[in-house]
Amino acid sequence: MTLSLTVLGCDGGYPGPGGAGSGYLVQAGGRNLLLDLGPGCLSRLQQAVGVEELDGVVITHEHPDHRQDLEGLAVALHFAERPRRIPVLAPKGVRDLMYFREWEELQWVEVADRDQLEVAGMRLRFSRTDHGPETLAVRVDAAGVSLGYSADTGPGWSLGELGEGLDLALCEATWTAAEEGRAQHLSGRQAAAMAREAGSRALLITHRWPTIPASKVAQEASLEFGRPVLVASPGLTMGLPGTRE
Ligand SMILES: [Zn+2]
Repeated sequence: MTLSLTVLGCDGGYPGPGGAGSGYLVQAGGRNLLLDLGPGCLSRLQQAVGVEELDGVVITHEHPDHRQDLEGLAVALHFAERPRRIPVLAPKGVRDLMYFREWEELQWVEVADRDQLEVAGMRLRFSRTDHGPETLAVRVDAAGVSLGYSADTGPGWSLGELGEGLDLALCEATWTAAEEGRAQHLSGRQAAAMAREAGSRALLITHRWPTIPASKVAQEASLEFGRPVLVASPGLTMGLPGTRE
């Protein structure tokens, strides 16, 4: 069994040239789960799977760079040849911001800190992070693999809240060490320190601010992690073989 992660978009704040906001497709056991759906991600999603093949969506918080394309997904599902209802898990308040909030294709499930539930055959566990609006990091366990996604966070939260020894930490690294403290986000250095302390086996950094040089963030993160880190880019797909089945 394998868990596969595909990066649909990974820009922090807003899409840079040719980029997209945050969005990740997680696939395991023939099921498809989305983690966030920022601007530009719906287009990229359809290069991987059709919208009718989706089994669930997690929206980590209300900021538009993580949820804007949910509007387009509602339209696509509503008018699809085979209309489909799918669960959308989000913190309180996200639904109220939606134009198409009453459409039944999106079955809203309100989630909060420490909630655990199963969606698309995958076990999910949420943890509230250090970010402005209520923001939920999520741990996904499926196919014998553990994936932890930080969503957006400042240094007042830790990946360890999702459990020790993640197979892959998908962690925001918005900028370089020089920008630390500008807002509730992490530098590559801080993300790497957090992943190392939590015993994460691999680190994939994401959510870089479009004007910040990727090489600098990656260099600072690798130095702190003690070995090379992976850097998210649109279209990147990783297959993680299960180790505990
Ligand atoms: Zn963001």
